[in-house]
Amino acid sequence: MPITPTSKIWMNGELVDWDDATVHILTHSLHYGMGVFEGIRAYETDAGPAVFRLTEHMERLHRSAQILMMEMPYSVEELVEATKLVVRESGLPSCYIRPIAYYGYGEMGLNTLPCSVDVAIACWPWGAYLGDDAVDKGVRMKISSWTRHGHNTMPPASKTTGNYVNSSLAKVEALKAGYDEAIMLNAEGLVSECTGENLFCARRGRLITPPLSAGALEGITQSTVMTIAADFGFEAVEGDLTRSDLYVCDELFVVGTAAEVSAVNSVDDRPIPCPGPMTRAIAEEYAKTVRGQVDKYKDWVEHVR
Ligand code: PMP
Repeated sequence: MPITPTSKIWMNGELVDWDDATVHILTHSLHYGMGVFEGIRAYETDAGPAVFRLTEHMERLHRSAQILMMEMPYSVEELVEATKLVVRESGLPSCYIRPIAYYGYGEMGLNTLPCSVDVAIACWPWGAYLGDDAVDKGVRMKISSWTRHGHNTMPPASKTTGNYVNSSLAKVEALKAGYDEAIMLNAEGLVSECTGENLFCARRGRLITPPLSAGALEGITQSTVMTIAADFGFEAVEGDLTRSDLYVCDELFVVGTAAEVSAVNSVDDRPIPCPGPMTRAIAEEYAKTVRGQVDKYKDWVEHVR
């Protein structure tokens, strides 16, 4: 998706002009994929733009770095404040936010321990990731021929840039075959997640989502949806799913900061009722929650002013 520039990007503690936020060609992470990043959204609320679960996103960025033994030079609180500054500076009512921490210029070779860590935060306008009618019409999914990388290969719990080679291979394969998105199975053949979303499957009145142990990222939208589902009185649990569970399920939807809550209308050309009643209720509640319109979830909404 094309990027629309905004005015400033935060780099290592300073706001720099959008066009000047560049890196050297010998930047370490460009060569070896050892960067960690986040995808966050700010939404328009009655009190101006607010970033949804910003602190949790920055805590996950810290955990991603910890897994790589990357020393993050900024605290969660500093990153939260820097993000608010970037969003304020953009003047946008709502936007997508991309923080990234990476090994910078000065060292080469696979030993990352001597490398310096650079951090940047950018934001720009970004619409619905899987299309505007993803809730009403649903998206077509394909089980990928690519296997989700395992805990002893590329730790899926860390949102590492290099991990997304796996996701991109699956995404492009699915798009080329005429589908909207891919579902990844792990080495045991269990459902893990999508290329950039977690997944929820409804069977026999129960919502099931694959856990971190299945190779999924610990999704912040996933956790939000677990809470919303429980508050609606829906039973929502973490658990194992096979591809056959998906083929015969009552409802299927995917969740993520970029994709929000998007219904699925088929998996490998097996139609799935769409959007199901739980999917619709959760999608609507999520849309209100992120905009600060649900009192009990107001603490998740972090205002930038
Ligand atoms: N899985 C993967 C692989 C992702 O990239 C994302 C997006 N960060 C998610 C799941 C969903 O995570 P979240 O809800 O925290 O955006």
